[in-house]
Amino acid sequence: MTDSNLLESRWAAISARLVKDGADALVLSTGFDLVYLSTYEARASERLTAFVGRPGSNELPRMIVPKIEMPEVPKTSAFDISGWTDDQDPIAMIVELIGDARRVLVSDEMWAHYLLRLKAAMPDTEFVSLSDSLGGLRSVKSDSEMQALQTVGGLANSVAAQIQRGDVALVGRTELEIQADVTGRMLAAGHEQVEFCIVASGPNSASPHHNPTERVVQPNEIVLFDFGGKHEGYCSDITRCVFTGPIPDDVAATYAILKKAQQAAVDAARPGATLGDVDAAARSVIADAGFGDNFIHRTGHGIGTEVHEQPYVIAGNDEVVAVGHAFSIEPGIYLDGKWGMRLEDIVVILDDGALRCSTTDHDLVEVDA
Ligand code: ZN
Ligand code: ZN
Ligand code: ZN
Repeated sequence: MTDSNLLESRWAAISARLVKDGADALVLSTGFDLVYLSTYEARASERLTAFVGRPGSNELPRMIVPKIEMPEVPKTSAFDISGWTDDQDPIAMIVELIGDARRVLVSDEMWAHYLLRLKAAMPDTEFVSLSDSLGGLRSVKSDSEMQALQTVGGLANSVAAQIQRGDVALVGRTELEIQADVTGRMLAAGHEQVEFCIVASGPNSASPHHNPTERVVQPNEIVLFDFGGKHEGYCSDITRCVFTGPIPDDVAATYAILKKAQQAAVDAARPGATLGDVDAAARSVIADAGFGDNFIHRTGHGIGTEVHEQPYVIAGNDEVVAVGHAFSIEPGIYLDGKWGMRLEDIVVILDDGALRCSTTDHDLVEVDA
């Protein structure tokens, strides 16, 4: 039996936000929003699965699912279930439930194929992206979700600490060999699943989303590690850089700027500040040092059941930082053709500010490995 109370309280909270937004209905398709409100990990396919809710009404939300997949749907008192057979039209079933709605919020992951048919069937209705209107369903975490993020963050932290201690051999191995080593350690630490693992050495570290290659790691260069996995449904994400030899002065000086920028953003991440303020805190430190053009991405992203989700720590975002937000703070400085560096922690927002989920050394560590 699914935890119906949890699902009911989640729907009640979302329902209140929908009413405030002026939405008459919510339609989710497959994806993590659906899991959040139903625990059902539906298969995305040409057969539509949809979760249809009318906020502020006494009707339970309804899960519309292919009849052949009905046995997979969790039994709960939090929503009703209707199965459809291959000779029925699920779009017509949705229209029957919410045909009179004027404003309908739809999950970002809904396939265009379904949304276009819904729009054609309800020509006078305004369909709005959920993230554009509410900033996502899942961006404010409960205490137990924040605890889960701390736990999984600790697993990634322990692997980063192994790398910093020199436990992972680097010089003479390819990025791909090192990646296999690190992902093995991520699983050994307790992740059930590896989501991604970037190993970027020397000049490759100037590419923020570098895909590991056959390049052999050399002495006296930066190796950037950015990896994350899942434990009990929640994601980790951490970046640390190490140096395979004595650290040159210019690299050390640039890293000091990066570290200062990351700390400034962590300090700025308090309830009441905007997410744009958090981005600006990191960006201004880097820009003041003359590297503004070398910080080529946003400062961070929300994290939870997905590695990247709402809210985004991005220039100009005037959404206010709230207790329960969880996001990365990961400024970077990239010198094309030379090297790059990034420093990343996940933070959860408490009443008095940001709490890091990873605490292993924030310096550029010289490793003998
Ligand atoms: Zn990234
Ligand atoms: Zn990362
Ligand atoms: Zn990240």
